[in-house]
Amino acid sequence: MADTTTRPAAETPSTRPDPLGYLADEIAELEATHLYRPLRVMTGAQAVTTVMDGRPVISLSSNNYLGLTTHPRLVQAALDAVRDLGVGSGAVRTIAGTMELHQELERRLAAFKHTEAVLTFQSGFTANSGVIPTITTERDLIVSDELNHASIIDGVRLSKAARAVFPHRDVDGLERVLREARDKGGPNGPYEHVLVITDGVFSMDGDIAPLPGICEVAERYGAAVMVDDAHASGVLGRNGRGTIDHFALHGRVDIQIGTLSKAIGVLGGYVAGRQHLRDYLIQRSRPFLFSTSHPPAVAAACLAAIDVLEQEPERIERLWENTRFFKAGLQALGFDTGVSETPITPVIVRDSEKAGRMSDRLFELGIFAQAVVYPTVALDKARIRTIVTSEHTRDQLQQCLDAFATVGRELRII
Ligand SMILES: *Cc1c(COP(=O)(O)O)cnc(C)c1O
Repeated sequence: MADTTTRPAAETPSTRPDPLGYLADEIAELEATHLYRPLRVMTGAQAVTTVMDGRPVISLSSNNYLGLTTHPRLVQAALDAVRDLGVGSGAVRTIAGTMELHQELERRLAAFKHTEAVLTFQSGFTANSGVIPTITTERDLIVSDELNHASIIDGVRLSKAARAVFPHRDVDGLERVLREARDKGGPNGPYEHVLVITDGVFSMDGDIAPLPGICEVAERYGAAVMVDDAHASGVLGRNGRGTIDHFALHGRVDIQIGTLSKAIGVLGGYVAGRQHLRDYLIQRSRPFLFSTSHPPAVAAACLAAIDVLEQEPERIERLWENTRFFKAGLQALGFDTGVSETPITPVIVRDSEKAGRMSDRLFELGIFAQAVVYPTVALDKARIRTIVTSEHTRDQLQQCLDAFATVGRELRII
């Protein structure tokens, strides 16, 4: 059933003035401008076909790229861990919350990513917000792609370092920023360290960062490079090793962020890099020090996911076949799919109200494809963001294309 928690009845009528009443005004404003999106509630598992708000749908909105959320090997690994080790870890990693499974997952991920070491975090979000402020000081500079993920932006906000953005995927623009910084320095003199940060795959447009160029420029200016591969893990590179593997840049990216919550199908984030990076984060990173570690079932399921990535590469092949079919279908219908190069394909509608109406009409036709509006994307870039998975059948994707055709014509988008 639809989420009702966002629309509570006035269950405790009170004469006391509501000091948070301004939030209700803000919501009314969002509704008036078609920027308010209610939660849809899923019955059953995260899968290609599911039930949303009581309606059976084909989903085009999950990050479950490889269908691993319900993979029998992951499910069994989680069940075994629950039976043997219980449901919670009971402490932060640095006190009593480091289990053998956590360490084993980090060793496996490091071997998989071809890095010296890995440290896991509770989520990809906490990995970014926990790494960036920990390794930078007020004498440093962070240079970030203008379309980087919110968790990178928050990590940068938590840092005392100076900050600059470079135009989206613009290597020359990055070089200009680095040159200026070298010539001018900061209020505390020349910068001690410079950190360049980019998403590997950009989550709203599905385009890929120009990493070879970024690495080359960063090397010339002595800057460290950090790549957030949340949407590339399990999708790009051999067996889904990510963009660094895709571009054969092993050893040239200092910090790789990955998520275990998307293609891996479970929950969590990690940082992959040098041993001293891991060792330092264990001593100083606040989400690592002050927030409880994963339940054992999470680590166990993630370990099983790495086995699946290594042993079932056909899932990634199917993902890309489906991506090509669906993207070509949308383009043949005349939709603006932007600059996507990955299974994330936006259908750019521009107007927020239209994007909301399009999503609602698709839903009535049995297709779940969420609208993404401001502030997740720019005000005039509202869109339906679609993500196909390895598990969609051709029939299901054709049904989706037919529904997009119908609704696109109704709303005069095509
Ligand atoms: C989803 C995402 C994250 C956050 O990962 P979670 O594990 O869901 O917290 C971080 N960075 C990027 C680029 C993402 O797309």
